Amino acid sequence: MNDRPPSSIWNLRTCRRARLWLFFLCVSGLAFCPAFLLYGAENPTLAIKLDQVGYLADAPKVALVESPANTPAKTFDIRRSSDGKVAFHGALSPAATDPLSGDTVQAADFSQLSQAGTYYVEVPGVGKSWTFAVGANVFERAWYLAMRGFYGQRCGTAVNLGSEFPGYSHPACHLHGEFHHSSGARGPRDNIGGWHDAGDYGRYMVNSGIATGTLLWAWEIYSPQLKPIQLKIPETGNGTPDILNEIRWNLEWMLKMQDSDGGAWHKQTSTHFPGFIAPEKDTLPSEVIGTGSAPYKSTCATADLAAVAAIAARVYKPFDAAFATRSLDAARRAWKWTEQYPNVTFRNPPGNSTGEYGDSNCSDELLWASAELWRTTGEAAYHQFFLSNYVAYLPTLDSPPGENWSNLAPMALRTYALSRRKDADAKAQAAIRDRMLTAARAIVSATAANPYHVSLKPKDFVWGSNGVAAQYGMDLMIANAIAPNPAFANAARDDLDYLLGRNTFSLSWVTQVGEHSVLHPHHRPSGSGEQPGPWPGLLSGGPNAGRNDSVLAALPGNLPPEKYYADQTASYASNEIAINWQATLVFLLSGQLH
Ligand SMILES: [Zn+2]
Repeated sequence: MNDRPPSSIWNLRTCRRARLWLFFLCVSGLAFCPAFLLYGAENPTLAIKLDQVGYLADAPKVALVESPANTPAKTFDIRRSSDGKVAFHGALSPAATDPLSGDTVQAADFSQLSQAGTYYVEVPGVGKSWTFAVGANVFERAWYLAMRGFYGQRCGTAVNLGSEFPGYSHPACHLHGEFHHSSGARGPRDNIGGWHDAGDYGRYMVNSGIATGTLLWAWEIYSPQLKPIQLKIPETGNGTPDILNEIRWNLEWMLKMQDSDGGAWHKQTSTHFPGFIAPEKDTLPSEVIGTGSAPYKSTCATADLAAVAAIAARVYKPFDAAFATRSLDAARRAWKWTEQYPNVTFRNPPGNSTGEYGDSNCSDELLWASAELWRTTGEAAYHQFFLSNYVAYLPTLDSPPGENWSNLAPMALRTYALSRRKDADAKAQAAIRDRMLTAARAIVSATAANPYHVSLKPKDFVWGSNGVAAQYGMDLMIANAIAPNPAFANAARDDLDYLLGRNTFSLSWVTQVGEHSVLHPHHRPSGSGEQPGPWPGLLSGGPNAGRNDSVLAALPGNLPPEKYYADQTASYASNEIAINWQATLVFLLSGQLH
């Protein structure tokens, strides 16, 4: 070494330049960038947990550190990725033990660092963290990937993520559609439209309902920020904002699921799940499934269609008046059908083993439909239905997050609270808003008290707990939309930080977002082996203390709830993706854009 100093220096500089270049490619999402290229021989440590995407410049910024119990660390440095220089030096908080994970962590608060850049945390005796950004709009790329995740789920068409993700494409899938005899109809049916629901290739109206409604709400609340973002989808440039172009792909399928009498069939799936094969290789017929006897359609599916189509009618009006009219007509006809059939429930017909999304009570779906139809039309009949029924559902706001694919009453109440219609009942609106804001303040307190700064409670570690975390964030952001409060927005961002890496696994649960992200989601296209890694932008379901699959069941029985997670394709109960919690992630990210 000493005998060739000029060359060594050149090599050192070249190496640093190469690492910078690779880092640039990595953060640009253009190339896979192993951590050792960024840090030389020293790998980032899982003991430092932070949001691997980053932190807004003017917002609180906290990383969490597990340090050795016998020699706890006292200080931390924030270093610039470009040259390793210290940009901020701070003291770690006293250690606290987190009941959700069992981890003992210290907080590294660097909120005062506001200069835009790319950084990592270094803690003496512990190591270096993954890199992250600080800036005014750090979440835009994550939003882009998460929203584009829906494009990758499109059914009945070819999909291609383009040069940004070479090889992430497939020819048109599931082209053979037909009516199953349980639908009351017969014969073939074209099969274009809709998003594959989750890790499987089925499409289900009730899960489409909450997912599509959530995305349309994101547009309604955050349209100035979302409008300019292009998703590089086939419709880009057609004059309609791309988020609405993408949502319409699913809306068209939902509208197609409406029968001529106004009712909507419950689902369109194969008889059983296919293996882990690429979508176009799944040749099982895609069947429209009904209840098996008259009226064949289900009330929950029909009411969900009424709600979502009613939102679509007001959202698409400035961009495509004819589509808005068609949506409103569908919503009205769906509502009329439910007046005749107020609680026709769905169970899988014999021989069908795909998802059921069964729901024994559709009255909350009806409440949501009435609220959205009123919000769009102002008509007295819808308003009266809502006002006559909403009080019984107010308690669903008390322990958020109360909404999920089978509980839509909070969506009904929230849309009423969000409405600016002058004919709104002031007393009802005040009651709902008060209840929502009280609940939001309680979430803020609980989140601040949790050592990981996350809103989750032990009871929340169910199937799709990451969706629950995102839902807490969404509820907080809706409260923030009604009564702006930095504490609401900051707590919502805490939940986002958890999803993007500030958790016990130091893992970003969104594929290809962050340096250390989930690799093996339960997602058939990702598990097919046709691409080099998982399809990007997809949120894993997350820890599930219910241990509903064999991978989780094989873990020791006495772990803290957050530990019941496995980044394995086989762990459908902890690592599946799904459009409902994906939509909630998009909503939460939408609220962080500027
Ligand atoms: Zn398909």
